[in-house]
Amino acid sequence: MAQVYDHGGGVRSIQVPIPDNPLGHTLVYVVDTDRGPVLVDTGWDDPASWGTLAEGLTACGTAVGEVHGVVITHHHPDHHGLSGRVREASGAWIAMHAADTAIVRRTRDTRPGRWFAYMTAKLIAAGAPEEHVAPLRDAAPRTTLPGFSPALPDREIVPGELLGLPGRWLRAIWTPGHTPGHVCLHLEEEHPAQLPGHGRLFSGDHLLPEITPHIGLYEDPDDTTVTDPLGDYLDSLERVGRLTPAEVLPAHQHVFADAPARVRELLAHHEERLTGLRSLLVEPLTPWQVAERMEWNRPWAQIPYGSRNIAVSEAEAHLRRLVKLGRAEAVAGSDPVTYVAV
Ligand SMILES: [Zn+2]
Ligand SMILES: [Zn+2]
Repeated sequence: MAQVYDHGGGVRSIQVPIPDNPLGHTLVYVVDTDRGPVLVDTGWDDPASWGTLAEGLTACGTAVGEVHGVVITHHHPDHHGLSGRVREASGAWIAMHAADTAIVRRTRDTRPGRWFAYMTAKLIAAGAPEEHVAPLRDAAPRTTLPGFSPALPDREIVPGELLGLPGRWLRAIWTPGHTPGHVCLHLEEEHPAQLPGHGRLFSGDHLLPEITPHIGLYEDPDDTTVTDPLGDYLDSLERVGRLTPAEVLPAHQHVFADAPARVRELLAHHEERLTGLRSLLVEPLTPWQVAERMEWNRPWAQIPYGSRNIAVSEAEAHLRRLVKLGRAEAVAGSDPVTYVAV
């Protein structure tokens, strides 16, 4: 049975399972409008997840075929995976921020072989050892990846603008960091139980009650711009904190209140992480060596292969931030690149 929860005021959520993932599920929100339900995110593209979403919509008194539109917080497959199927079944539009739509377009156009070559080169540049890089190099020619043909959205979410949902006031708040085109959606209507604050915020992966979202580099084989995703994320956190929503409706875990308090916790967490990282840089270290020495949810030796790639990306995002702040610098002429505190 689909787990459906009524949040009041014409908003419900459906727990759509993510197979083999410790997060468990994506919360897909169903927002009633005068033209039929609008979904915030859709869930992982898997037959069981699809079944749960369809069942959940029935439990909400509607059906997949009735969906009027789909608003996507960001392009990740646990959020955007089922969007194409929903559109096929209903004729709904799909809306996404342009920066994430660009990633969707690139993902559709890029051969997996090119991705592997790009990732291999990046890992070598970050100082990954040969035994880590070798399997990636060997896998490249014959591997196809899941989620390699995500649905191309047909509408653009424009930061600061209302989404034009019939009878509802839903405004897009651009919150880059977790992805370059991540958005939160502010339902600018009085809270149904009159909780103090300003409306409700669908926060995607940007603001979660008990975990910190992954902040890594924005991976783009065609773009060599030196971005600062952690800086983007910290700015975006302050932006949503200032909205002071009465309640936050995240895409994982559970609903919570007091967004500004959660924002303060996350800002403090990253500041602590940056300070800790800088103290490691008494000697020049590659991003890989930094990742090995940073604190994770388990010892480095127990971190599985794929998660190490994510960890290195996260280490690099923190290094970029330190460099931007003038607290560390790349050692001139080092290859692979090393960083040291200044
Ligand atoms: Zn995500
Ligand atoms: Zn997610």
